[in-house]
Amino acid sequence: MTSISFCVLGSGSGGNCTVLKIDEELFLIDAGLSIKQTRLRMESVGLSIHDVRGLFVTHMDRDHFGTSWPGHVQRMGLKVHVGPSHMETACRFGVPVSCLEVAGETETSSVGVSVRRIDVAHDDTGCSAFIFEHDGCRLGWATDLGHVPGHLLEAFVDLDALAFESNYDRDMQEASGRPAFLKERIMGGRGHLSNRESLDAVRRIHADSNLQHIVLLHLSRQCNCPDRVRSLWNMHGGDMAKRITITNQHEPTPMLHVQTIRNSLFTR
Ligand SMILES: [Zn+2]
Repeated sequence: MTSISFCVLGSGSGGNCTVLKIDEELFLIDAGLSIKQTRLRMESVGLSIHDVRGLFVTHMDRDHFGTSWPGHVQRMGLKVHVGPSHMETACRFGVPVSCLEVAGETETSSVGVSVRRIDVAHDDTGCSAFIFEHDGCRLGWATDLGHVPGHLLEAFVDLDALAFESNYDRDMQEASGRPAFLKERIMGGRGHLSNRESLDAVRRIHADSNLQHIVLLHLSRQCNCPDRVRSLWNMHGGDMAKRITITNQHEPTPMLHVQTIRNSLFTR
């Protein structure tokens, strides 16, 4: 039985947005694509933007919450769930206070979705990782994290699916013509995760989980390459390599379905 489905509509520094379907309810994780692109890409997988009932925003960088969204949120009366450290920025961007909720601390749905927020380091105001749980099915979500803290690994257990940042290839980052301060910002523990750091963390998470899908997010256009990611996983990912989906900026992934194993065993 499918409990949670999701489709990454686009991921990268040009905009991040995922549609999450839990039971029959739709949510967005991040809203960094334009309204038009979000609508078109949702339609391409048979979904309507008008059926979205709420947003979970990992942090307020523009590639995660675009300028056109405050108006849409207000018109549609949507709830925007963010971490406490992002409330002020959300208000400044024009999200009405009445639309804001602290992620993980309020009821979000009528079908019994539980959401847990885990705060991680990223730039000045940090970033929120999430665990979405419904009917015994658990999806972990973590992007834009400078390093993988112990408390995230402690929380990311018994997951059935995982979406995790895999931002850059270290060799490409070091060889890039980027200025030293930018490289330091990205690789210094409060920026982004390298492919290798991501793989090592996913391996640890997988040891205490049974991941049906491993979705790799936010690949850098300049300092990463899907072929490199694929070959790294083929070489060092063992059995996990078969389960990866590499996201990209311009095209949605297929709709990925997470099965509730416990239930499917009973109904076989
Ligand atoms: Zn980002």
